Amino acid sequence: RKWGWSLAGELRQAAARDPGRTAVIDEQGVGLTYQELLDRAERLARSMRAGLGVQSGDRVGVLCRNHHGLIEAVVAAMLLGADAVLVNTGLSAAQLATVAEEQSLRVLVHDAEFAERVLGLPADVQRVDERVHEELIAGALPGDQLKPPERDGRTIVLTSGTTGTPKGARRPTPHSFGPLVSIIDRIPLHARDLVMIAAPLFHTWGYAALQVAFALRATIVLHRRFDPAATVAALAAQPCDALFAVPVMLQRLLEVPPPTPRPPLKVVAVSGSALPGGLAPRFMDVYGDVLYNLYGSTEVSWASIAGPAELRAAPTTAGRPPHGTRLRILDDTGQPVPEGRVGRIFVGNEMLFEGYTSGDRRETHDGLLDTGDLGRVNADGLLFVDGRADDMIVSGGENVFPSEVEDLLTRLPQVREAAVIGVPDPEYGQRLAAFLGLHPGETLDPEAVREYVRHYLARFSVPRDVIFVKYLPRNATGKVLSRELRRYYG
Ligand code: ATP
Repeated sequence: RKWGWSLAGELRQAAARDPGRTAVIDEQGVGLTYQELLDRAERLARSMRAGLGVQSGDRVGVLCRNHHGLIEAVVAAMLLGADAVLVNTGLSAAQLATVAEEQSLRVLVHDAEFAERVLGLPADVQRVDERVHEELIAGALPGDQLKPPERDGRTIVLTSGTTGTPKGARRPTPHSFGPLVSIIDRIPLHARDLVMIAAPLFHTWGYAALQVAFALRATIVLHRRFDPAATVAALAAQPCDALFAVPVMLQRLLEVPPPTPRPPLKVVAVSGSALPGGLAPRFMDVYGDVLYNLYGSTEVSWASIAGPAELRAAPTTAGRPPHGTRLRILDDTGQPVPEGRVGRIFVGNEMLFEGYTSGDRRETHDGLLDTGDLGRVNADGLLFVDGRADDMIVSGGENVFPSEVEDLLTRLPQVREAAVIGVPDPEYGQRLAAFLGLHPGETLDPEAVREYVRHYLARFSVPRDVIFVKYLPRNATGKVLSRELRRYYG
């Protein structure tokens, strides 16, 4: 038996080929080599087996911010043939308890800062905080190299839970380089690059970036939490080749003075939520033409990629499917829609997830998975994602995509961020409400906002309510929490 294309397999390969190469660097500039990281993960695995009784087929939850401890815990679980469940750090105590129960966690490895939130977990879940994590590593019994377990340890990634309780999605363990090839086919990433992963590692996008980085034997800069000023300082101090982020992080980076001189970044790759209109050109004006927008989800991994030239020409495009991915826009009957027309986005590639742990299913058509998103492909073959089918607003019988209005609103120079939702209306069924965060010191008159939208879009797309907020409520991956916005209406 061999180690597959899993994080554990990649770490072993990297440690064998490049043992002395730095694998991760934290915010204090402290590094661990690939060999050191593998040794720590192996020791943790041995102690988890001997001390905590973790066995093949068990599930180990990981509730960590971006640091090497998360990688060690995931790899340790996999080395034992256990599944690592990556838990969203934004979950409440009640949601954590539900996840622990639904996923039958045997162990939860967690950061010290979450100590209080894990108090209410079922008693049979063993908790490993950072102190215990270090003790397990230090106290590991010496032993032979761990053998590949009979069963592949998997990663289970939880969806963001934007639409309810997070769902556990089993990631595939492809025994090929397909995912790696499909990304480096379109993005200039190279072996041994220095990359910063700011997107949360517990989310499918940050985790995918980690797998790619390991496969390239890159050196990875990790900060526990995203802080724009600290990120700018790190980019100024270290010649990073690539930055992996979520779109709202780019927004925040633009709010602090940029590094001078411009850092030698070759790639800034974002995914996880839509790139708001206006952000791509503003970001590239400051950081250079290095932006890549990847459209994807927990279920399909990445499904399309737009590069800098495409984003200069069409700032909200999600680009084209990469090598090995099929993408179709289908109507309700499963027929392809004509060019430029909106339909449901279906995707097929070898990175498709292997199902929800709950047993729930997603629609498929001819081997392609329903993404739940609506979108269209233009004459140049560029994909535009209009958003989730469930988010579409029907106002006075007309369909409105929040994303279209949001994109327009973020083009106003005063507007930093915008979210549009549908709220119940006695006359129209639903009316549009726009929540706007303005740049410091800026003001806007709601009527001027309506007038501006009226100039570009149909009457039914004009927000009747315009509400100003300091910051939009977002989850850890930067998605706007529309249920929080709905609370404004009681
Ligand atoms: P839940 O299903 O629990 O609500 P979630 O679907 O928010 O969670 P993710 O898998 O992280 O969890 O979200 C994927 C969705 O995010 C996509 O289906 C799409 O709607 C949106 N998305 C991701 N990347 C992009 C992008 N580049 N452009 C537009 N939309 C994107």
